[in-house]
Amino acid sequence: MAFTLPDLPYSKDALDPHISAQTLEFHHGKHHKAYVDKANAALEGSDYDGSDLEATIKKSWADKDMGMFNNAAQIWNHTFYWHSMSPNGGGAPTGEIAEAINKSFGSYEKFAEEFKNAGATQFGSGWAWLVKKGDKLEVRKSLNAENPITDGATPLITMDVWEHAYYLDYQNRRPDYMGAFLGNLINWDFANANLRA
Ligand code: MN
Repeated sequence: MAFTLPDLPYSKDALDPHISAQTLEFHHGKHHKAYVDKANAALEGSDYDGSDLEATIKKSWADKDMGMFNNAAQIWNHTFYWHSMSPNGGGAPTGEIAEAINKSFGSYEKFAEEFKNAGATQFGSGWAWLVKKGDKLEVRKSLNAENPITDGATPLITMDVWEHAYYLDYQNRRPDYMGAFLGNLINWDFANANLRA
């Protein structure tokens, strides 16, 4: 069974002006789709089933099969990233995630600083993450397609810091994109749902 490209959870212009319809058109319609197509090409003649994306990610990581890992993990990461944003998102968290952030980081402001720092210091392409490991929350950064599930952590939120995520709207200004992500887009309802799962 082949991998499929999931629909965006909102319309292409829903995140405008923070992320434009043009960026989502390319990022979802071209980049995300290309990862699906390449993972499906890697499926052919392999012993991967393709029905379970997480199992494929973990197996290819363990086997150092980067041809499959990079594309399968990028399918997962992008789907998770779309849901990590909301047209009504941004600002300080509410609910259980607010308490968990205070407990692990001291305050929302300290979390935001650490999260932005992770995104800013990820050299080249990668991701910034808020994850749960054991009973603690952690901020992480990862290179290229790397995903915290290979380390047994539970992702709560992710932010794409590949240039293709922001270049059309912000050119080289990654910090401005990260400011918009935290200030206007981050989906705390999604983080709360992942925390409970
Ligand atoms: Mn991307």
